[in-house]
Amino acid sequence: MPGAGTAADPRIPTAQDLEVLSRQLGRPVRDVVEIPARCVCGNPLVAATAPRLGNGIPFPTTFYLTHPVITAAVSRLEAAGVMAEMSERLGSDDELAAAYRAAHDAYLTARRDIGERAGTGPVPEIDGISAGGMPTRVKCLHVLVGHSLAAGPGVNPLGDEALAAIAEWWTRDRCNCDGAWDTQGPVPSKDLSRHVKHLEAKAAAQEEADQAGERQS
Ligand SMILES: [Zn+2]
Repeated sequence: MPGAGTAADPRIPTAQDLEVLSRQLGRPVRDVVEIPARCVCGNPLVAATAPRLGNGIPFPTTFYLTHPVITAAVSRLEAAGVMAEMSERLGSDDELAAAYRAAHDAYLTARRDIGERAGTGPVPEIDGISAGGMPTRVKCLHVLVGHSLAAGPGVNPLGDEALAAIAEWWTRDRCNCDGAWDTQGPVPSKDLSRHVKHLEAKAAAQEEADQAGERQS
């Protein structure tokens, strides 16, 4: 199902965007204020969270990669040891190190702008703190890729590198949403206790059994 993305400002999340995000992540999303990157079909790729959550807690990780195809591909890179290799190069390649520091600054500026648009005001608790290991290390490749998708090419050199490295599984110019997350079941909602989940699973299993029975009869 294609995403909405028809609002005047494509950054503003629609109700459908929030539903898709919850399905992509398998849990309800909260405090998402913008959709900074979308698939060519309109579905969210990245969710932007306000720098201060609704409960008052400061939140430094502004850009969260949500698309399961991309998160899985980036996890493959992490498992292959790409982060250690990148961190090493940051220590020896001055040009790369400078570009990465600039990415850190761009991240902070983008977060301030998002906070202003979202009306969360200044968040001094996280001044100078970005995410993903920036500005000198690589601790989470998903963060860097989320930043690259949100900012566009040429802002975060290591996020751009990671995107290039997953081209086999995902590229900006084609939609890979089909089958990437469950679009049929209920949207993950916030107040499911373990007990309720258990009951729901039982009910779902029963329903499936009933349907199977009907098909056979
Ligand atoms: Zn798509």
